[in-house]
Amino acid sequence: MDEQSPAPFDVDFSRASIARVYDYLLGGKEHLEVDRRAADAARNVVPEVAQIAKDNRSFLRRGVKYLVRDAGIRQIVDVGSGLPGEDNVNEVAQAIDARVRVAYVDNDPVVLAHARALLATDEQTAVVTADLRRPESLFDKVTALGLLDLDAPFAVLLSGVVHHLSDDDDPGGIVAFVRDRLSPGSYLLLSHFLYDDESRAHALERAFLHGGLGSGRFRTWEELRGYFNGLELVEPGLVYANDWRPDEFTPSGSPVHTLYAGGIGRKP
Ligand code: SAM
Repeated sequence: MDEQSPAPFDVDFSRASIARVYDYLLGGKEHLEVDRRAADAARNVVPEVAQIAKDNRSFLRRGVKYLVRDAGIRQIVDVGSGLPGEDNVNEVAQAIDARVRVAYVDNDPVVLAHARALLATDEQTAVVTADLRRPESLFDKVTALGLLDLDAPFAVLLSGVVHHLSDDDDPGGIVAFVRDRLSPGSYLLLSHFLYDDESRAHALERAFLHGGLGSGRFRTWEELRGYFNGLELVEPGLVYANDWRPDEFTPSGSPVHTLYAGGIGRKP
């Protein structure tokens, strides 16, 4: 990213951005010195931290394939979609069926600008800025796109975003709101930092919270299971992300696989 270019909109480039730190960890190009410092604070305590981002991305790709190919989903709301990179959700989904419609949602205006330019290039894909902490307004904005029929089955992706909600944000209440909005036959994909491998989870959480990023909560299996209340978990359930229907591209032997979990639930 060009650090000299003027900000095209009102963004504080002196602070690390979740989307750019994640892009850096994935080996992308859209990051600044402040983002690299925040990532390095995490890398100092868990040198393999970038692998968590890769494990997550791999889970997301397998999950989207499952939703489109096996579950028959043709409408997706990807909340906390991040900067465009490899295997973007619309590309994975539309490679299976070109008619899949995808609404990308993120609260970072830099994501909006990049995603608009790179992803929303067809009539099936749209991008909107909205905040998961205000889920009602988020759904209003998605509805206003006029792209999706939210009375028919659709999937909501909450991949790597709920752990950026603080406990004060009431993540349980926010995800419950999202579940309530799912029409019968819809799906929720959710992946999250896991508090299972205690000492490294603790150290990483501290580094994320106090090392420049400002968010990144590790939650227990029980807390994560609660996000799927009232949904039927798709086999194999809520598991370490790399154990969710692994394929030939799933990272094997990830040294950080106990720090990340994912699952997909279906609204009956
Ligand atoms: N979903 C992508 C994936 O799994 O590869 C990107 C995950 S990235 C770690 C998290 C994204 O969530 C960032 O782009 C960040 O801007 C966005 N985000 C964080 N908090 C958010 C919120 N309250 N509302 C909407 N987006 C949010």
